[in-house]
Amino acid sequence: MIAIAIDGPAGAGKSTIARSLAQKLGYLYVDTGALYRAIGLYCMENAVPLGDKAAVTAALPHIRVELRYVDGVQRVLLGERDVSEEIRRQEVSMAASSVSAMDTVRAFLLDMQREMALRHDVVMDGRDIGTVVLPDADVKIYLTATAEERTRRRMEEYAAKGIAADYQTLLREVNLRDEQDKNRQVAPLKKAEDAIELDSTELDAQGVLAAIERIVKEKIG
Ligand code: C5P
Repeated sequence: MIAIAIDGPAGAGKSTIARSLAQKLGYLYVDTGALYRAIGLYCMENAVPLGDKAAVTAALPHIRVELRYVDGVQRVLLGERDVSEEIRRQEVSMAASSVSAMDTVRAFLLDMQREMALRHDVVMDGRDIGTVVLPDADVKIYLTATAEERTRRRMEEYAAKGIAADYQTLLREVNLRDEQDKNRQVAPLKKAEDAIELDSTELDAQGVLAAIERIVKEKIG
């Protein structure tokens, strides 16, 4: 099986690129952030305090999270419920970032991610795919962009959905989430030693995709 790992901070364009690349190659696109988001959503809905590791850990055996593919599109199930849209909410992003700092939560989701890569050719995006989940991935990309550019893109996404957003508030949240993800003890966001870093600040999606396709071609032909 072939695995392409794409890591990087929130809003660098990982999901857009990973999805397009997977489609072009005929691989499965695995968005691992959705798993942490589902855990965050469960805690929010069940009054599990997000900062309380003992409480979150005690909730884990009650959580059934699953990735399912419908016409090649990833759906996230929490129990029987499809939460694919709900987990995109901004509060859920922050909740995901809180619970993802816990080693118990990461261990809970690790095998599921590895199994996907055992059974399918994958393009998997996240924060620790190249460093922890798939350290032997065939291609590792670390995708970045400045916090300002990532905030601007998020503003555009919201505008397209008709959601009003404040630039300064979003920028603060982008910076806060980066800080939480980079400074945690377990599986912090960082570039794997053998990853290729790509700064997408000055590139559009087509440009990033073309650059990554060149890298993939070089590495796996
Ligand atoms: O990628 P996305 O923004 O959906 O991820 C939500 C949160 O889940 C991130 O801020 C990060 O804290 C966590 N995450 C993680 N490891 C991954 C993917 C996501 O810790 N592989």
